[in-house]
Amino acid sequence: MTTERTDIIIGLEVHTQLTTQSKLFCGCSTRYQDSEPNTHTCPICLGLPGSLPVVNEMAIVYAERVAKALNCSVQQTQFYRKNYYYPDLPKGFQISQYDFPLGTNGYLTVDSAGQERTIRIRRVHLEEDPGKLTYRGTIEKAQYSLIDYNRSGVPLLEVVTEPDLRAPKEARRFLNKLRNILEYLDVFDGNLEGSLRVDANISIAGGQRAEVKNISSYKGVEKALLFEITRQRNLLRRGIHITQETRHFDEARGITISLRSKEQEHDYRYFPEPDLLRVDPEPVAEQFREQVQVELPDTKRHRFIAQYGISDYLAKVLTASKPLADYFETVAARVDPSAAASWVVDVLQGELNYRGLNLDAFRPNFLIDVIANVNQGTITEKAAVEVIRTVLDTGGTPCEIIDAQALHAAPIEQITAAVTQAIEENPQAVDDYHSGKKGALNFLVGQVMKKTRGRADPTLTNRLIREQL
Ligand code: ZN
Ligand code: MN
Repeated sequence: MTTERTDIIIGLEVHTQLTTQSKLFCGCSTRYQDSEPNTHTCPICLGLPGSLPVVNEMAIVYAERVAKALNCSVQQTQFYRKNYYYPDLPKGFQISQYDFPLGTNGYLTVDSAGQERTIRIRRVHLEEDPGKLTYRGTIEKAQYSLIDYNRSGVPLLEVVTEPDLRAPKEARRFLNKLRNILEYLDVFDGNLEGSLRVDANISIAGGQRAEVKNISSYKGVEKALLFEITRQRNLLRRGIHITQETRHFDEARGITISLRSKEQEHDYRYFPEPDLLRVDPEPVAEQFREQVQVELPDTKRHRFIAQYGISDYLAKVLTASKPLADYFETVAARVDPSAAASWVVDVLQGELNYRGLNLDAFRPNFLIDVIANVNQGTITEKAAVEVIRTVLDTGGTPCEIIDAQALHAAPIEQITAAVTQAIEENPQAVDDYHSGKKGALNFLVGQVMKKTRGRADPTLTNRLIREQL
């Protein structure tokens, strides 16, 4: 039994940018993230009169790959014009798909409270991203907004679920799994700003649904849904009718705000895009099948076990997300793979999670340096953990921190001297050791650690004490 309430109905529309080289209907580059505004544009993506779109085949290939992975049936598809006016959409319509979406009737399973739940996918379709509006101030109070068309025409894949999700947490799990699949298929980069945007439909106990638009993070989705549940329950309790409307999620304040009453589908006056022919995705995808190599999680896990000699458990954790798997492979190429695996899984992940950071916070090169220093005996394992923590908390590189904090492992001469001293100062412990008392050796190791301020390698210290006794 689940303890979560079941009168909650959630459906998601997930927009993800596909990582093709060029835009959906023109040759402009999609790598605009570090560019000046309005430098990745042409008459087509600016929507100038008389310009004609041409479909980017690679976008079709990527979309087909996702549709298949989401267990959809793939069909011949038709682009449509979705008519609405907004400054980020200079043509006055968005080229999208309506009837005949590329993929239909799929599903994805998620683990929810120990149960496997099937979330049906209604459709998967391709559309163009609009430009990007930047409001000066908040969306409600801005005097004006700035517009950048670099994003205009970037291929967006829209995945629409049936209203099968029953809790905000479940929605978040669904999104995590979807993201993982997209990354494995190599069609999506979750680190790019704005690469994922979610519209969440939510209703409670038969009330009208609210659509919360343009939420840009997984945490945001969960927070927006939790806020909506409270808001709608409060209205229902006071007997107030919930109207169907579009709301905006204010990430900073953690609340949703009414934007406008929800438009109906017929308001968009969809009609087939007369400038584009129907596309059959299967033969297009077939042409590129050989160029596109995809290694799915299970295949990767088996390869990790065979190639790196690591345990099934470690391989499973490492392949649970593609960035983590890639990170591990970068490190394993330079240091002992089993050391790499256990440092990534047992130490780094814990330290990152604890701080709410992701892998970007600790570059693979950093971990390579840390592990190499441990292997060369320059620092102890304990000091290595300290180095990782310091980098995460205060910045800097591992080498700088090892030097600055004098974390270098104590040389053998220094440890030997400390051992001699510890033995002289603690005759009782020496007697205990000789009479076979268990704690005596550990006590002496502890004394040596104190004298070397934790920089003595414990295994070496142990050996030196035994030798001297
Ligand atoms: Zn263009
Ligand atoms: Mn859309």
